[in-house]
Amino acid sequence: MTQEVRGVVAMGKGNPVTVETIVIPDPGPGEAVVQVQACGVCHTDLHYREGGINDDFPFLLGHEAAGIVESVGAGVTSVAPGDFVVLNWRAVCGECRACAKGKPWYCFNTHNATQKMTLRDATVLSPALGIGAFAEKTLVAAGQCTKVDPAADPAAAGLLGCGVMAGFGAATYTGGISRGESLAVFGCGGVGNAAIAAGKLAGAATIIAIDLDARKLAIAQEFGATHTVNAATENVIEAIQALTLGNGADVCIEAVGNPKVLEQAFYARDLAGTVVQVGVPTPDMQFPAIPMIDFFGRGGALKSSWYGDCLPSRDFPMLVDLFLQGRFPLDKFVSETIALDEVEAAFHKMERGEVLRSVVVL
Ligand SMILES: [Zn+2]
Ligand SMILES: [Zn+2]
Repeated sequence: MTQEVRGVVAMGKGNPVTVETIVIPDPGPGEAVVQVQACGVCHTDLHYREGGINDDFPFLLGHEAAGIVESVGAGVTSVAPGDFVVLNWRAVCGECRACAKGKPWYCFNTHNATQKMTLRDATVLSPALGIGAFAEKTLVAAGQCTKVDPAADPAAAGLLGCGVMAGFGAATYTGGISRGESLAVFGCGGVGNAAIAAGKLAGAATIIAIDLDARKLAIAQEFGATHTVNAATENVIEAIQALTLGNGADVCIEAVGNPKVLEQAFYARDLAGTVVQVGVPTPDMQFPAIPMIDFFGRGGALKSSWYGDCLPSRDFPMLVDLFLQGRFPLDKFVSETIALDEVEAAFHKMERGEVLRSVVVL
């Protein structure tokens, strides 16, 4: 038996999103239906709406979500009805060559639900990042559900599903930030501030926030930035060197997705330091024209980070526990809570830089 719920759909390229009736099948083998309690508004949802990801319209948007498992299909043992879960877009397969090498955080064949959600007229929906959680309920692969402590507020916990996890992991796992080190974070939205909070948790001694917006720099200090650099008025590379005894930072996180910013991060880094690209570039962007001798001569590493090289089964419960202990400020990312029909307005607030995260609460 199917059920009908309300969900936020991008019907066509660039069109404002609308709330539509969507049809959810019962979970098949390996699948689960989740009653969504909260879902954050991420830049990637806007990218889908603008046709920047692909042209598989209509999209059922939303992918940073927490909720309660309503029902599970045959063979599902990892979660059961009633479990409080955070949804993820890295349900590791356990079989691909990355998993076989013991590096499941790179899994190349992650699982999604095999059945399709549709509109009433049977038009197949493409769920954003295989999730589609701006909806009262959604159908996912059971592996996309990670159980966490139900004491956590769903609006905060759900943010682990994408941006906060990506930023935390970019600093912690991809960048390997450690106690006493210096960290520079370029771009202080949700992802950047999560990287800053990760640096604080890891014991980084110097945490430098870089942004064009003074309001964002003030917020970055609340997440743990020890210093700020306003890229609109200061020479970013010189300012970072001045804050690090003339050396540059041990780890630089590019959380914008821009060639100019990547170039700054490259030169603001200490010898043998690490640059991590976690900001998502657009397809037209070119790698900055850095002389090869600089790449060779400065040593270190230049890495990209998908989803912060996270492993949801390891990281979501850990970060929820740290949040509940008051050691990781997950709730600080929630700028406002909104209703399902306010997603379009939230996109515009995000574009104007007014919010870290608007979160739909159901
Ligand atoms: Zn795999
Ligand atoms: Zn996202």
